[in-house]
Amino acid sequence: MAKGWIFAFVTVKSWNPCEDERSAKVIDASGCVVMPGGVDVHAHIAGGKVNAGRLFRPEDGRRGLEPKRGVCKPCSGYSVPNTYATGYRYARMGYTFVMEPAMPPLTARHTHEELVDTPILDNAAMPLLDNNWMTLQYVKEKNIDMLAAYIAWMIKATRGYGVKIVNPGGTEAWGWAKNCGLEDAVPHWDVTPAEIIRALAEANERFEMPHSIHVHGNMLGHPGNFETTLKTFDVVKGIKPSKERQVMHATHVQFFCYGGTTWRDFESKASEIADYVNKNEHITIDLGSVILGDTTTMTADGPMEYTLHKLTGRKWTNHDVELETGAGIVPFLYSGKNAVHSIQWTIGQELALLVKDPWKVVLTTDHPNAGPFIGYPILISTLMSKKRRDEVLNEIHPAVFERSTLASIDRELDFYEIAIITRASSAKILGLHEHGKGHLGAGADADVAIYDISPEERDASRIQKAFLNAKYTIKGGEIVVKDGEIVATPEGRTIYVEPECPEELMNEMMPDLERMFKEYYSVSLANYPVQDAYTPHPYVIKAPMRG
Ligand SMILES: [Zn+2]
Repeated sequence: MAKGWIFAFVTVKSWNPCEDERSAKVIDASGCVVMPGGVDVHAHIAGGKVNAGRLFRPEDGRRGLEPKRGVCKPCSGYSVPNTYATGYRYARMGYTFVMEPAMPPLTARHTHEELVDTPILDNAAMPLLDNNWMTLQYVKEKNIDMLAAYIAWMIKATRGYGVKIVNPGGTEAWGWAKNCGLEDAVPHWDVTPAEIIRALAEANERFEMPHSIHVHGNMLGHPGNFETTLKTFDVVKGIKPSKERQVMHATHVQFFCYGGTTWRDFESKASEIADYVNKNEHITIDLGSVILGDTTTMTADGPMEYTLHKLTGRKWTNHDVELETGAGIVPFLYSGKNAVHSIQWTIGQELALLVKDPWKVVLTTDHPNAGPFIGYPILISTLMSKKRRDEVLNEIHPAVFERSTLASIDRELDFYEIAIITRASSAKILGLHEHGKGHLGAGADADVAIYDISPEERDASRIQKAFLNAKYTIKGGEIVVKDGEIVATPEGRTIYVEPECPEELMNEMMPDLERMFKEYYSVSLANYPVQDAYTPHPYVIKAPMRG
């Protein structure tokens, strides 16, 4: 990346090449930090469980109340904000794209309705495809051709972006009050999570998909799970990607870096995981970094939420999506007085600092699971300042000095590295760099964030403040944020992928799907696919079958 783009005059111009350049508005951004619009690779912002979270936590809704003001509609919520607050808060931080990473296929319409209702941001959503009965059947039969046809049909039908995997086999097992380790057989199916992950990766790579499989593995949040994590990474080793990218994106890896045998001897194993990522090219990760304070956890990993409910005694809700997936929700407080939470806080930071190549890492909090996205500027400030990290370490539980390596890490990220882990690497990992996101080169979308801070600045508080409220955010050539205030609220685009499956393969798969709908689904096949009305501003990426 050229040094020049940090000090820049920014010409604001729409993407229409016919427009007269003399009419373009010129913004003087000298002395500021200029970056492409932020790209969030993984945040739960829309759909059934997010909405259930809003209803489930009225106390959270009251925390973010803002009345209708200027061009802005009323806002509510802190860890589960309403759709308006989600759009405005991201835009104020300079973000212009967010990926909703867990769309139950059966309720794709609701997810798209909320995404359309979220102002400013371009968006996409990944359907959950790992606990579906059709997937389990084809994995059992070792029929990758049919699995490829099935995922192609599902991604197209749901207007989804790629293959999401959450506790493969474990969420299906949860229907029988059980969970699954990586090598355990899923009840009644006789397949293992490892087989599901590998088969879905192989099926995904049959197409030139922009993104790899996106994996929340097994045993999330369990002490000692780092060994399962390393084995999960190994499962897809040797599979050739259909494009120049990773074969597996492992998400919110903080929750998968745990050593120890119980919560008493719980410790960080971030260095082992970072070491693996450093030595291998087939894996990329996002952090799932903890923000200390109150939040709401929500995931398709139903058994994990039940464990959390038993552990904390806080309220719990669970939902099953027929034949496909499920979800659970539990409120949570990450406390600096608690040894485990404090160590969890260090792990996200360790991962970001120990993985040497920033193109393999994305800054996330698995919003809202490890903390709300509005905390990103706090994380940016600690990753850029050893001094700020030391201050936090001295305030939280002293176990962090014995059971984490964070105190011994001197590395401070610079603005270039922050630009990579908050937009460039996420766009590359999602395959969106070819579609205008995450860069300012030729062909880039006119999505730009200007932060009112000197590129020389190292003061953590000033860095945090600048990244919370951009001086300007420009979305598709339009100024949407000026001096931290929302000034325009254009509608975002829905980006989705259409895998192109040969007709004969599709025709071979369809009778199985028709039978599944006829015998088990409560809706008919004809009523299942999402119609045009749900994506009023579509941007379609074709994924041809690999030659
Ligand atoms: Zn997640």
